[in-house]
Parts: sequence; structure tokens; C-alpha cells
Amino acid sequence: MHEMSLVEAILESLVPLCVENRWRKIERVVLRIGSLRQVIPEALVFCFEAASSGTPLADASIEIKEVPIRQKCASCGLEWEGEVPLGRCSGCRSVEVETIAGLELEIEALEVLENGDEKG
Ligand SMILES: [Zn+2]
Repeated sequence: MHEMSLVEAILESLVPLCVENRWRKIERVVLRIGSLRQVIPEALVFCFEAASSGTPLADASIEIKEVPIRQKCASCGLEWEGEVPLGRCSGCRSVEVETIAGLELEIEALEVLENGDEKG
């Protein structure tokens, strides 16, 4: 289960950011995760809830945007999307296939509660 290490990496980057910017807490985190990362969203949320307790992200909601696998043939330029990566172009049968999306692992957006904000 690599969701826990992913959650730890997220916390390691966001907790110091929160301190530096003097945010009171982080309320929402939007993640972009490529299908090739094989992250199970429910498992990630579960790990996040367990690991974030006691941090400024304890009440944060997590939204996961899954990025489909996108590949491009280096020979004929054909591009396609799919659930599983192909090792061969369906157009020209070339094996010169590049994966151009599906490996994302990024924080796309944050919603924070700044010090001095009334709500919360
Ligand atoms: Zn091709």
C-alpha cells in the first residue's frame, strides 16, 4: 500500500508551507493523480485522515482528480487515452510509444483558512 507514503509526502510538503504562510489550517486539497500511479482514492483518503490528525490538515477534505493515461506514438504521432498503457501503437504498430500523461502526482489546488478569518 503506497498510499501512506504518498500521504506522508503530501503532509511533509504542506505542513511547512502552512507554517511559513501562517495559515490557520488547510481546508481542502485537490490532487491530480495519474492512473499509472495506481492509487486507490478511498485508501488515500483513509490514510490521510489517519496521518493528518494533529496537523493543520486534520480537517481538510481531499479531492482526487484522476488523470487518464495518455500515450503518443513517436513514429506516426497518433495519440490515445486508455485504462491500461499499450506497448505498441494501434495505428502503425510501432513500439516507439511515449507516455505523455498518467504519471502525475501533484497538488493542484489548496483552500486555506488564514489567520484572522472569522469562519472555522
Ligand atoms: Zn504509430
